Amino acid sequence: MKLAVLTSGGDSAGMNAVVRAVVKAGILKGCETWIVREGYEGLVRGNTDAETPSSPLLSTTLDVKINDPTFIQNLRFGDGALLRDGTGDHPSGRTLKGRYIVRVGWDDVRGWFAEGGTLIGTARSQAFRTPEGRLNAAYNLIKEGIDALVVCGGDGSLTGADIFRAEWPSLVQTLRSQDRITDEQVSRHGHLRIVGLVGSIDNDMSMTDLTIGAPTALHRICEAIDNIHSTATSHSRAFVLEVMGRHCGWLSLMGGISSGADFIFIPESPPKADPWEDAMCEIISKHREIGKRKTIVIVAEGAHDVNLKPIRAEYVKDVLTDRLGLDTRVTTLGHIQRGGRPCAWDRILPTLQGVNAVDALLEATPDSPSYMIGIQENRVRRVPLVEAVKMTKAVAEAIKVQDFEKAMSLRDPEFRENLEGFIATSTLEKQPLLPPEKRIRVGIMHVGAPAGGMNAATRAVVRYCKRQGHTPLAISNGFKGLLDDNIHELSWLGVDSWTVRGGSELGTNRVLPDIDLGTVASKFQEHHIQALLIIGGFEAFNALMILEAGRVHYPAFHIPMVHIPATISNNVPMTEFSLGSDTSLNALVDACDSIKQSASASRNRVFVVETQGGMCGYIATMGALAVGASIVYTPEVGINLDTLRDDVKWLKKRYALDEKGKSEGRIVIRNEKASTVYTTEVITKIFKEEGGSLFDSRSASLGHTLQGGVPSPLDRAYGARYALKSMAFIEKHHEQLREKKFKARQAGPDSAAVITLQSAALKWVPVREMVEHADMKNRRGKFAWWGKHKGLVESLAARPQLV
Ligand code: ATP
Repeated sequence: MKLAVLTSGGDSAGMNAVVRAVVKAGILKGCETWIVREGYEGLVRGNTDAETPSSPLLSTTLDVKINDPTFIQNLRFGDGALLRDGTGDHPSGRTLKGRYIVRVGWDDVRGWFAEGGTLIGTARSQAFRTPEGRLNAAYNLIKEGIDALVVCGGDGSLTGADIFRAEWPSLVQTLRSQDRITDEQVSRHGHLRIVGLVGSIDNDMSMTDLTIGAPTALHRICEAIDNIHSTATSHSRAFVLEVMGRHCGWLSLMGGISSGADFIFIPESPPKADPWEDAMCEIISKHREIGKRKTIVIVAEGAHDVNLKPIRAEYVKDVLTDRLGLDTRVTTLGHIQRGGRPCAWDRILPTLQGVNAVDALLEATPDSPSYMIGIQENRVRRVPLVEAVKMTKAVAEAIKVQDFEKAMSLRDPEFRENLEGFIATSTLEKQPLLPPEKRIRVGIMHVGAPAGGMNAATRAVVRYCKRQGHTPLAISNGFKGLLDDNIHELSWLGVDSWTVRGGSELGTNRVLPDIDLGTVASKFQEHHIQALLIIGGFEAFNALMILEAGRVHYPAFHIPMVHIPATISNNVPMTEFSLGSDTSLNALVDACDSIKQSASASRNRVFVVETQGGMCGYIATMGALAVGASIVYTPEVGINLDTLRDDVKWLKKRYALDEKGKSEGRIVIRNEKASTVYTTEVITKIFKEEGGSLFDSRSASLGHTLQGGVPSPLDRAYGARYALKSMAFIEKHHEQLREKKFKARQAGPDSAAVITLQSAALKWVPVREMVEHADMKNRRGKFAWWGKHKGLVESLAARPQLV
């Protein structure tokens, strides 16, 4: 199969990772790989000169590896550098002028991962909207012999893709009748295989949970707001931020949650109050009355009121200035949101989706629908492209006819939950919502190592408690603090800026309650703790187990008890995502980008990067996928002499294949506990010794930097979501106990549980049940959903996999 990939519509971070993944997976599966420059416009224009580097199609499928001669023929065609540097003069004398459909090889897409936007160019093509334009596009594809196309773009681009595929047979017939193609070409190109990937920063596509570029855009928004926080507080100012999103409020909503904003406007759910100005001013003036010095309002560019009258940032500013007398400024983030280095997920997801896209093309038949590759329930999924486009359009149509309930129902359930969560944590009520008898004293503690999102989760708990009338009690320094009576009530305003803070505001350590279980129980009684929320990693899980088991002896533990997993190692059983692991992945990506730069500048250097993670290889594996590492060593798989020997052999071969003078740095990621014998130092020395004149080796240990400084937006948002779900759980179980459903305050085993993310759904697992899924000796879950990605890391480095 000859396959081409193009990027179209507005650019987004992660598009380069798509191109890289499609090219690499294509070559690995025996395809000839091409890129189309400037989106559909490039297809319409095609190549004016006939020069096209050619080499035989790979003969094998699925198992092409570095020693295969056809793989070597597909290493590079020399245009990668041209694409990267622009189309101007190039020392090699090669030019891309007049060439829009370009053959690329493995090394041509090298190092593209870390770059924002799209290196192959994108455009909005008027010509492709016309039948003549699409006829030319078909001709140009057939001329180059291309029979499969990956399109990465927004809903417009995917609509175009679907129309193109539907028209294809008639386009081929027309080209034949015009004598532009031969009968042989007609029979070879009767069917166009096409697959869409959603590259769009708005996250506005239905049937996928995340679009490529949206997570990075959210990072840019949060960075901007984090910077604004300090000046807003210093001057006691209000800031109104306009963010992108014509029909989709995802960026505004997630930005609002992740930055702790005061008010947001989104197209799907305009403020219900009419006039909304009164409602907004009431909420913000309450914040100011209790002493809040800063105000942040986020407006999606497509925001409007219930009557569809647009709500503009400038107008919101006038309202805040005139009615509340606030010194208000407007910041329009504009194109800043598009740009910059992709965050970890915008490298991982496009890679997984790009690989899947190639599979989908290979499996396509004339009768199968064209697919859009998306992410649903944390898994890469194929959905019929037409349906996804139709459903996306339905949201815009529902908004147009003011059916906001329908617009919200067409978004995924998480969207609604997030909106409700935002309101619950940003609105101060005049009176607590619950009557006194239903109010609870909730103890909150952090246990284990600090992780991004712990503070954001705590803030959400506190805000929710205050709204309901509960008493949020900070237990500082974990169980040790409890024994020392280090307990105080937290206030709504006191936790205001905790969303953006890394580390643990409460203080955390690894002390477990069995240090003195009896005294722990008496402290629970003394401080009238009626529910407990523990935020932390494996220790926190352990602590909950001990407390639950202690119920036999201590009535004080017959209360609802919850564990929110928060650990950079992501080693808590049964959950796919612990708070802090995303921050950590991003810290690893940042560090490796810098290391790779240094490694490449010095040429021929292999960096062995050591990560934390304890006995769990999650960070190492997902980090390796996110930085394009060549090899990854995990505790689950371990290291032995045979693998090391193969690794050295492979590195030598790979460096020998590099273009002279253009060798790049390579990254090897090693989890700290992958082997007690083959330490990072030993491996580095072996590589250095064996590399000889081909390559050198250095090591870097990321250590505690992986805990990250500022939590990532995802960890902040998930922190809030986990927290609010936990409070609902606590309230439910408290009520059951209060109603004496259990005799003499006997709390059932399901009232001590861990909140887990399983296939994107939040599920409660009683701590007793968790034990069955835990590898207590190695402090990790028995099943690692990410384990298979180690093979993918090595495939994408053309590293033969060991059986
Ligand atoms: P973004 O989300 O950034 O706006 P998009 O893919 O939706 O990205 P559009 O400008 O809508 O951006 O579409 C990109 C290109 O896709 C168009 O310039 C056009 O070439 C093609 N396209 C869009 N809609 C159609 C259509 N109905 N028929 C043919 N081509 C189309």
